[in-house]
This record gives sequence, C-alpha cells and structure tokens, in this order.
Amino acid sequence: MTKKLYDEDSHIRQFKARVVACQAEGSAYRVELDQTAFFAEGGGQASDRGRLGGQTVLGVQEQGDHIYHVLPGPLPVGSEVEGEIDWAFRFDNMQQHSGEHILSGLVYALKGYHNVGFHMNESLTTIDFDGPLTQEELEDLEQKANQVIYENEPVRILYPGEEELQRLAYRSKKELSGRVRIVALGSSDLCACCAPHVKETGEVGALKIVDAQHYKGGMRLTILCGARARGDYAIKHQMLRELGAQFSVAPLQVQQAVLKEQQELQQLKSRIAALSDALIEARAAQVTADTPLCLVEPALDTVSARKLVNALVEKGCPLAAVLLPKEGSALYQYVIGSGKTDVRPLAKTLSEQLGGRGGGSAAMIQGTVTGAAAQAATILEQYFRGA
Ligand SMILES: [Zn+2]
Repeated sequence: MTKKLYDEDSHIRQFKARVVACQAEGSAYRVELDQTAFFAEGGGQASDRGRLGGQTVLGVQEQGDHIYHVLPGPLPVGSEVEGEIDWAFRFDNMQQHSGEHILSGLVYALKGYHNVGFHMNESLTTIDFDGPLTQEELEDLEQKANQVIYENEPVRILYPGEEELQRLAYRSKKELSGRVRIVALGSSDLCACCAPHVKETGEVGALKIVDAQHYKGGMRLTILCGARARGDYAIKHQMLRELGAQFSVAPLQVQQAVLKEQQELQQLKSRIAALSDALIEARAAQVTADTPLCLVEPALDTVSARKLVNALVEKGCPLAAVLLPKEGSALYQYVIGSGKTDVRPLAKTLSEQLGGRGGGSAAMIQGTVTGAAAQAATILEQYFRGA
C-alpha cells in the first residue's frame, strides 16, 4: 500500500521516499514508492506532474492501494529518492476543484440539485446539475460561493466510522461503504472525494461562473477559480479598455457607446436606402424605351442594383445591366435583366471572357467578374447588337 502524503497535507511539494518496486512497461518504467505526494488522476482531477529521482514523471496511476509513477528510466529498488510535484499545476487544480465543491454544495443546499458531471481541463471546469437555474439564482450562487471564500473556512479531511457515515449527510456520486474519505469545506459542504484540496476556502481566491447552458434537462455551468478568474478578468478588462479608447469613453461606458453607434448605423442605413431609391428613380426616368443600357453604379449594393434593373426593364429597356465596381479591387459584381431575351447565356459569356461566376433566371442574372468595367461594357455592347 502506498502512503498518500497529500491526504495529510495537500501542500507538500517535496518529499523523500523509498523505491519498493520498479517494472519495465513498454519503453517506460512503473515505479512504486512507500509514500508519495503525487496524486493519481481521480474524481475529475488530473494526475500530478513533476520530477522523481531526477526524472520527469510521465504519469501517475492508482491501482487498488498502490500508486505507480511512470518514468522514462528505472530507479533502483530499495534506494531513497526525492520527489517534487509541479506545485503551480497542483495548486491551480486544487483551486478549481475546491471551488467546484463550494458551488456544488451551495446548489445542493439551495435547490437540492446533484452534481452529475464534473470535468476539468487546463483552461475550464464544467459542472453538470440535474435541474435548471435562473440568471438570478446563478448570480446569487456566485455571490454566496465567493462569500464562503472570503470567510476563509478550514477544509478538513474526515474518515468517519461506518455508523457515523450512515448518519452523515454528505454528497456523493455513488453509494459508498468502508473507509470513505470525506472533504468538509467549512460548515457548508460535505462530499466524498479522493482528491487533494486547498487548506482553507480563501485559497480558492475567487469563483466566477462564465457560462451556463441548459443541458440534458439541467444545467452545465463553466467556472473559473483563483488565478484563472483573475486572468479572465485581466483579458476582459484589457479588451474593454481598448474598445473604450476607440470610442473615447471609459471601459464601463463601452456598452452605451456601442448601442449609440448601432443606432447611428441604423439611421445611416435608412438614409442610404432612401438615397438609393431616389437614384433608381432618377435613372429610370432617363430611360428611353428600346435602348439597351449599361450603367456603372459604385454607390449601389446588389439589392438596389436588382431594384434598378427591374425599374429599367419595367420602363421598356430591352436589356439592362448594372455594374458594381468596388474601390481598390478589380473584382466587381453585375446584375443584368431583360423582359425580352433569355439573359442566362450572357452569364456564361461573361464568366468565360472575364473569369468569375454567375447565373440566375431567364429574366435576371447576377454574378462577379474581374477586370475593367470597360471590358464588361464592350462584351455587353456586342451582346446588345446581337440581341
Ligand atoms: Zn471532489
């Protein structure tokens, strides 16, 4: 049986131990010690990283009462070795995991929902609950979770006897018996868990719910704790500062500035639509029936160009083409319509001679070509003469 040093003290970073077994496994070695501070993967928490006997630990596995350290090289059985866990990685994992316990305990106490799924990776932690939560409840839970953190309550590890365990109201994903490890977070939560946790709730630092989705009839919450919450705040604050600088307002006034800009944009769109309609009307008024027309209109978009083509055709124009050049680009769009001839072959001719693509109905085609607008006009003229 391997003695788990983190059971007694989750803050042990360095330790000495005796090698009790070393077995080759593929190109690596499985090393068992009499005691270890390395936590093997479990309860949603990743296995510890670090160094053992001067080698990088590739993985940590738990089988029964034994913990195996996977190393690139062997260690002599009977020798004393030094181990050091990657403390930054472990502490980050403990912050997230203890934060998850605090929140799950509160959700259970307030709503009676169970934590039915817990996943933790290097950037995010998700918790699944078997019931829905409103935005107000989420805000309340987040505030209460941070209150537990501020109060810096002790985190204790308990091994209750069989009888006491029966009486204890603890959270657990499955029915447990025998020697059960209970993690007590202050006075607010009791949960069966095998992982190392922070010593006081204050070490969690902060808890932020960054996402909440309805999931399988319940909720999936994404949380960030400790340094991850601060990092997220820093990124978002920087983003708001930069946006604020662009709008010449303070970070907290960015939303207002964006709303104002959206309103102005809407007004501009309405004005452009009115001007486009006036332009279409003016162009249509100039049309002499029976004369094919090719107009170059850089101020119009494709919707207005279609309107213009329809207006020209209605006025009796046998073949109406509108070219939409884009400033600084050889690429431009076209809309061509006719009430008299099938314009589809024209799309093919334009694509073949100018490159690009287009198509549509017998009455109207639309597409994109490259080159000078004059080239397209020449092709169209030739077509007009033939039409
Ligand atoms: Zn746990």
